Amino acid sequence: MKLGKQSIGVGDRFTHQGIAQLRAIVKANTKGLNISPVWNKSNREHIYVGTEPADTRKEADEAVKALNYKGQYFVDADHINLTTVARYVDVSDFFTLDVASYIGKESSSEEVDAFVTSCKKYMGELQIPGMESPLNVTVELLQEIACKFLAATQHASEIYAYLKKEKGEANFITEVSMDEVESPQTPVEMFFILKMLADKGVPAQTIAPKFTGRFNKGVDYVGDLDQFAMEFEEDVLVLDFAVKEFGLPEELKLSVHSGSDKFSIYPIMADVILRYDKGLHLKTAGTTWLEEVIGLAVAGGEGLDLAKKIYENSYNRQEELCGPYADVINIDGSKLPSVKEVNGWSSEKFANTLRHIPGHADYNANFRQLIHVAYKVAAEMGSAYTDLLVKYADVIGSCVEENIYERHLRRLFTI
Ligand SMILES: [Zn+2]
Repeated sequence: MKLGKQSIGVGDRFTHQGIAQLRAIVKANTKGLNISPVWNKSNREHIYVGTEPADTRKEADEAVKALNYKGQYFVDADHINLTTVARYVDVSDFFTLDVASYIGKESSSEEVDAFVTSCKKYMGELQIPGMESPLNVTVELLQEIACKFLAATQHASEIYAYLKKEKGEANFITEVSMDEVESPQTPVEMFFILKMLADKGVPAQTIAPKFTGRFNKGVDYVGDLDQFAMEFEEDVLVLDFAVKEFGLPEELKLSVHSGSDKFSIYPIMADVILRYDKGLHLKTAGTTWLEEVIGLAVAGGEGLDLAKKIYENSYNRQEELCGPYADVINIDGSKLPSVKEVNGWSSEKFANTLRHIPGHADYNANFRQLIHVAYKVAAEMGSAYTDLLVKYADVIGSCVEENIYERHLRRLFTI
């Protein structure tokens, strides 16, 4: 099973927007692209919302059927490990093996030594084709990399072995993710991580590193754009070389766990993948939930009332809701409007404050991040929330479609 060159992960917390998301992708594909949709949902999201992995499969299949979509599509068990993978086996065909928590876990000195010895041919100046200057590979560097990543790649191979036994080889896509950590992996680390994966027989088709900079939820990238551009380009070159050196799947590509809406790095990635004729996988998730709230606000009446209620709850429960996301949000509480103020807002004002149009006079990134982490509030509302998703499906669906197409796909794939 092959993922295909271009793909996008469209997470959907409440599993109501599959058709609208697919409409956006079909629209891009009519412009000459061939982007595969992947419905990703992490174990954590399923727990918060109270959905089952089978719900995501049902959503994907129904969207594909409704639009008579003939292309490839996948259902991603996002951020799973050996303890959580079992309930995804039957319904997923894309597995994101999250090994971040194994980075830095101890490996035996025999394993470290064996790895260092196996890298003999790369010691000294290692020239990656296309890179300006060679990498300087020393025994110390290799030891350091082995101590940091051997256990993580070992864990990836254990999850992979389990999936291979349960699903059969080549019946699923394998991604390895290391993005949920503080410090980014460097291109030289990436090269040797890929060697470890190849040595351990993990046929990764996508790899998700932690990139430099902050990937706060639902808002734009915060960091040094030049540094990101250099790192992203070097990673692309490293992957290309690693495929040839280690015999990894030739479709191996980067997976960017974007936390949604990293608009300022989209053109940078678009430029690199066009220049090198490479593929990309980009995951979004919360951006669709935010469009649901925007759509409710736009609908007015009880839709707007519910959107305001969600804000009121989020505002009053900030500590609890933000806690689990502390590392990936940055909310300035002094810039949050009061509940009283928001309760006086029109549909337009609410939607413009939340909708991610940088530079718009009403846009408020603090407001947006708070609503981003507040999907738990909507989940608790149960059918009071989902009934309105059904009632206002048209207006919400057009918000979701426009967001994925206009703000994401067009920037990412240079449409
Ligand atoms: Zn991730």
